[in-house]
Amino acid sequence: MYSDNHIELKNYNTFSLDAKAQAIYSATSVEELLMLWKNALLKGLPVLLLGGGSNVLFISDFDGLVILNRITSLVITESSQEWFIHVGAGNNWHQLVKELIKSGIYGLENMALIPGSVGAAPIQNIGAYGMEFKDVCHYVDIVDINNGKQYRLDATECQFGYRDSIFKHKYRENFAIVSVGLKLNKLWKPILTYAGLTSLTAQTVTAQTIFDAVCKMRQSKLPDPCLVGNAGSFFKNPVISRMAANQIKARYPRCPEYPQTNGTVKLAAGWLIDQCDLKGFQCGGAAVHSDQALVLINKNNATGKDIVDLARYIQKKVIEKFAITLEPEVRFIGKYGEVNAMDAIS
Ligand SMILES: Cc1cc2nc3c(=O)[nH]c(=O)nc-3n(C[C@H](O)[C@H](O)[C@H](O)COP(=O)(O)OP(=O)(O)OC[C@H]3O[C@@H](n4cnc5c(N)ncnc54)[C@H](O)[C@@H]3O)c2cc1C
Repeated sequence: MYSDNHIELKNYNTFSLDAKAQAIYSATSVEELLMLWKNALLKGLPVLLLGGGSNVLFISDFDGLVILNRITSLVITESSQEWFIHVGAGNNWHQLVKELIKSGIYGLENMALIPGSVGAAPIQNIGAYGMEFKDVCHYVDIVDINNGKQYRLDATECQFGYRDSIFKHKYRENFAIVSVGLKLNKLWKPILTYAGLTSLTAQTVTAQTIFDAVCKMRQSKLPDPCLVGNAGSFFKNPVISRMAANQIKARYPRCPEYPQTNGTVKLAAGWLIDQCDLKGFQCGGAAVHSDQALVLINKNNATGKDIVDLARYIQKKVIEKFAITLEPEVRFIGKYGEVNAMDAIS
């Protein structure tokens, strides 16, 4: 797929924004990806790698080449105790979860229905319903665009954190994730710690039951991007000191808090936004979802600017009320590539 002229990106970002790119290609192999990237560099075009476009916000047209990562492969091997899944970065995450369960390989069910590609999963260490990508990561394979060399990073080297990894820092530019290795214990243990799953019985529950329950809860809580443009949680949940959390708790006893192992406390960004009475609040064509305060939606032909203005307003209101600065989880894409989201909304 290629054009030298302006290509509509509406179908390639789940916000369904009307941004344009100079050109768009699909890469189905590492060689193709390298070739496309090098050609773009020779032409002086910036490159944006996209999977499912479910974690990006186009704040303007992108004056470069979009490469869709469509490197798909799936190789499953096993030892007496573990399954080893080697999967191409272009595979769809949810389809992988579904197919593995169908094959009797369990352990990803809590992360069912997270949109996007396998290759993007390590970048923000996707997580939901009591587990994160890091819990199943064996390794991540990357390619250096400058020299074509491939490297394998084990889970420790990926430096996973809450919505964070080395792929947002050292390996953010000029590197592409090309495949991922997962390690799943054959001695499956259900994870039922998260609200909504606690009523299931550990002794009798199956992975399929958890998968179905997670899908049902997500479908009832989150707007479907096929119907209403959105990128899931727009802001990260803020992590603050115990002392700051105590001060908030003294003023707002009902504020939910999640103590972290290092002594800090995670708060629910959606709750903070909701306390500012912003559900349903609109800025141009963008709005805060009327049920989920953490989800910003493309309500009526929103532009990237509408969503940035709305995010800025939300951030200001939360600072005024709680003295907490919310940070976007979504990646902002400008004319020449990614821009700093905090700078864009401040
Ligand atoms: C309705 C909805 C619900 C969501 N729920 C959750 C949730 O529960 N938990 C959660 O963690 N996330 C959630 N998300 C966010 C999103 O699903 C994840 O961030 C997902 O991993 C993004 O995958 P993607 O392929 O769409 O990435 P894209 O949006 O295509 O890309 C995201 C970023 O990664 C870069 N990138 C993409 N592929 C590669 C690659 N192969 N190599 C290098 N860089 C690459 C892009 O350049 C971009 O900067 C949700 C999103 C939506 C729309």
